[in-house]
Amino acid sequence: MKSKKAFLITIDGPAGAGKTTLSKMLAERLGYSYIDTGALYRGVAFEAIHHGIASDDDKALEEMCSQLSLRFIIVGKELRLFSNEKDITDRIRTPEMAMMASAVSARPVVRSFLLDLQREIGLKKRVVFEGRDMGTVVFPEAEVKFFLDASPHIRAIRRFNEMKGLSSQTLEEVEKDIIRRDRNDSTRAVAPLKAADDAVHIDTTALTLDEAIEKMLKVVNKRG
Ligand code: C5P
Repeated sequence: MKSKKAFLITIDGPAGAGKTTLSKMLAERLGYSYIDTGALYRGVAFEAIHHGIASDDDKALEEMCSQLSLRFIIVGKELRLFSNEKDITDRIRTPEMAMMASAVSARPVVRSFLLDLQREIGLKKRVVFEGRDMGTVVFPEAEVKFFLDASPHIRAIRRFNEMKGLSSQTLEEVEKDIIRRDRNDSTRAVAPLKAADDAVHIDTTALTLDEAIEKMLKVVNKRG
């Protein structure tokens, strides 16, 4: 179903709330592009680790960001993340990168570097942006905003199933990491994880993907 109006749609929420799967599904149903902004923070984390830069070394992070070119490129049907000429899509999907992303994302130098990049991508509209501060800071003017949430336990189970074969973490470790990241992300001074005042809240704990997507499509269609 293609919506007639050209919207920016933002989807924020904590890890494991279903943002990635639902953002992709929604974009596909509407004929929109999809951007995973968490991948950009993971990209910065990847390069910081690669360069031996500590997560609180603002000077080194700023210098590194000034040399960095992060770009999404469609390869086949897949959106892949390139850092300069390197395809880092698969290498950023580890628990270590998630935790480093959460740490560097609290630094204003990193946020302001990625803010410009995200706004540039949003200029053409018809994009679903997934992240933590899409509706509050990056695109406060977005036409449709969602905030997805679910219980920490169900979020940990989802993340654990996603990471099978990619990580040796137990379910308990995944849940601990999720709770720690939630705390980091929602208590940081700059652009904390929180719902925009005009966001539509959806709790996905007891919803199937189809039920959640139907709720989201209803909201979009009402606006469109
Ligand atoms: O969504 P994902 O788990 O890949 O995000 C990794 C980390 O990047 C988050 O824990 C959060 O700290 C940071 N992030 C952010 N703002 C965004 C997207 C992600 O701070 N818009």
